[in-house]
Amino acid sequence: MDVLKITPRGYCHGVVDAIRIAKHVGEESKGPVHMLGLLVHNTHVTDEMQEHGVKLVDAPDRMAGLDKIKEGTVIFTAHGVSPAVKEKAAAMGLNSVDATCSDVIRTHDLIDRLVADGYEVVYIGLRGHPEPEGAMGHGPGKVHLVQEAADIDSLRISSEKVAVTCQTTLSVWDTDDLIEKVKARYPQAEVHNEICSATQERQEAAVEAAKEVDLVIVVGSARSSNSKRLVEVVEKKGGKPAYLIDSLEEIRPEWFRGVKRVGVTSGASTPSQLTRKVVEYLQELEAPA
Ligand code: SF4
Repeated sequence: MDVLKITPRGYCHGVVDAIRIAKHVGEESKGPVHMLGLLVHNTHVTDEMQEHGVKLVDAPDRMAGLDKIKEGTVIFTAHGVSPAVKEKAAAMGLNSVDATCSDVIRTHDLIDRLVADGYEVVYIGLRGHPEPEGAMGHGPGKVHLVQEAADIDSLRISSEKVAVTCQTTLSVWDTDDLIEKVKARYPQAEVHNEICSATQERQEAAVEAAKEVDLVIVVGSARSSNSKRLVEVVEKKGGKPAYLIDSLEEIRPEWFRGVKRVGVTSGASTPSQLTRKVVEYLQELEAPA
């Protein structure tokens, strides 16, 4: 099989930093070390972190996660947390280590400034994902989560000052329609697009590569927002089929019937050795007739 390795792909700077911080803290700390949720959305990475002494605390939200920790160190993941979570960790006497990505911190700072200036913020993001949870905690009652068009119809905003921003790992193709709808309802709304450059660049490369291949394999976890967006943009904007796989074992040979050339990319939290194994497997694969 002819394989096009799509670049850029794989680890972004936020993931590299979070892994470096967690490994260091796991190896150097005296007491127990916990990551408050998946450090990054890839189970291979979080399994590896546990080998470095960092225990996973999984819970429906970060506050509930803190309740499961008795002592020691807590690492806030790359997705960021709300100020209330930081305050609670401090009040519990935990040693806090912040592995929030600098791009997520930029969004938190933006929300802080907007709310202090009297704005209400429409935040486009995914319900139940930790990044919106942390971002919304920067303006309780002033930041409104929108995931789909119906959420915009039910918005109740009292301030004249309205701003729109978004989760870092969405795609412009997802957010554009929602932003237009918010603008139709609140024409004065200021738009602050916070999709990070790592996400944007990987998506643009995947859409461009889709022109040259018959299908695209995205290596990444089903819990990874940016990996799922890669599949969507290839299908919607690139016009080619795409499959998300967490590991080599999930590949189905029948996907490749009649396929001459396949593109491979990976999410921002996918270890490169996983992607390399997939590329090597596909290079050896004879496409079924
Ligand atoms: Fe940071 Fe973007 Fe990577 Fe998320 S995908 S960790 S926001 S660089």
